[in-house]
Amino acid sequence: MEQEISRAPVSSYKVTNRQFEQAAERMGLTEELKSLLMMPFREMAVQVPVKMDDGRLEVFLGYRVQHNGARGPTKGGIRYHPTVDIHEVRSLASLMTWKTALTGLPYGGAKGGVNCDPSRMSINELEKLTRKFIDRISIILGPYRDIPAPDVNTNPQVMAWIMDEYSSKHGYTPSVVTGKPLDLGGSEGRLEATGRGVTFIAQEALLDLGLDMTGASVAIQGFGNVGAHAARFMEEAGANVIAVSDVNGGIKDEGGLDIKDMTKYSQETKTVVGYPMAKPITNQELLSLPCDILIPAALGGVITRFNAPQLKARVILEAANSPVTPRAEEILSEKGVTIIPDILAGAGGVIASYFEWVQNLQQVQWKEEQVNQRLKEILTASYREVYQTSIKEEIDLRTAAYMISIDKVARAEATRGHN
Ligand code: NAD
Repeated sequence: MEQEISRAPVSSYKVTNRQFEQAAERMGLTEELKSLLMMPFREMAVQVPVKMDDGRLEVFLGYRVQHNGARGPTKGGIRYHPTVDIHEVRSLASLMTWKTALTGLPYGGAKGGVNCDPSRMSINELEKLTRKFIDRISIILGPYRDIPAPDVNTNPQVMAWIMDEYSSKHGYTPSVVTGKPLDLGGSEGRLEATGRGVTFIAQEALLDLGLDMTGASVAIQGFGNVGAHAARFMEEAGANVIAVSDVNGGIKDEGGLDIKDMTKYSQETKTVVGYPMAKPITNQELLSLPCDILIPAALGGVITRFNAPQLKARVILEAANSPVTPRAEEILSEKGVTIIPDILAGAGGVIASYFEWVQNLQQVQWKEEQVNQRLKEILTASYREVYQTSIKEEIDLRTAAYMISIDKVARAEATRGHN
């Protein structure tokens, strides 16, 4: 029985590999190159024992996967979530290889994660978990080796602990991690960069689709770092954000939510649910709302063959990693829905992380306008390249994005040699 039929999550690693293989097939990549580019370069699984506040010793499992480093040191976020496992981390590491290559950053791809439920942990426990995890994997980290960043349930504070833990062994090293607080070598604009980038990409894509950003209706799943900033920038760009959600549920107002007001509410209550100026909806209802743009900005695998037939959005902007399964993508393509792939739509964060790393290495600080301007230039150029390739090759945007990235990584591998 197929996994999706049993509603068990589709292996995210299989999904990424299927997307890779589709593009590799089209490019006529040799079997040798395919396995070289598909298989992770290095994987580390570690035990993370933490003395909890009540005196118990809890042992967590943590992972760091470095997928490919042909184009530079590996780069990718660290996720804290109960669903983290080696398959998910592998998939996310691989996506980082293609994301950094697509946008021309001098990096390879990596990802890390700890299987834990941070919503049930105190700040003290989270700090201990972070320090122990970094202590165990620090042997494979470094400013020219592998540079972590934030992802689901990790934030600038967690990045500060990572910097501090690594620096306690190697001397002051802000360039070992990005997404840090401004006081510790963080970059202006980094926190907002993924959400801002989503909006830059939306603006470009709408031009090609003949749609107007002013008044475009937008639904956003996930109201964390990416989703909340995307909501703010989409509203600033003139769009009408009609629904948002988080892990607890969602809210909608067809007339358009007041993002500033509801962000204030969600910061105070730690959820969007219960916002008095909107109607409650479920996460599933949000995904199938009639709208111009749907932005999944939470977890992977949320749009499947089961809910894809009900979706009514014209464009799906994948701010989250891997939100659409391959079968769902087929259904949506038949319906004429444009899907802007994660390795393009969600690339703003790693681009600004690259700026932060550059500033740390050079010990300089850029102004926010410079960060935002350069972010826009890179994302706009990347979108244009993907769009032109998709037209020229008569393929969808995801396959086009993969073909561009695979070509760059394959050339780097070939030139570096394997003797
Ligand atoms: P976050 O932890 O700040 O926020 C996650 C949000 O998703 C929260 O609002 C949470 O309540 C919600 N959520 C969690 N489980 C959910 C569920 N089952 N249904 C609905 N909502 C749910 O994380 P983030 O940094 O905003 O990352 C979100 C996505 O964007 C992830 O897929 C991540 O890999 C991707 N991403 C993040 C960055 C970054 O810079 N942080 C960059 C690129 C891509």
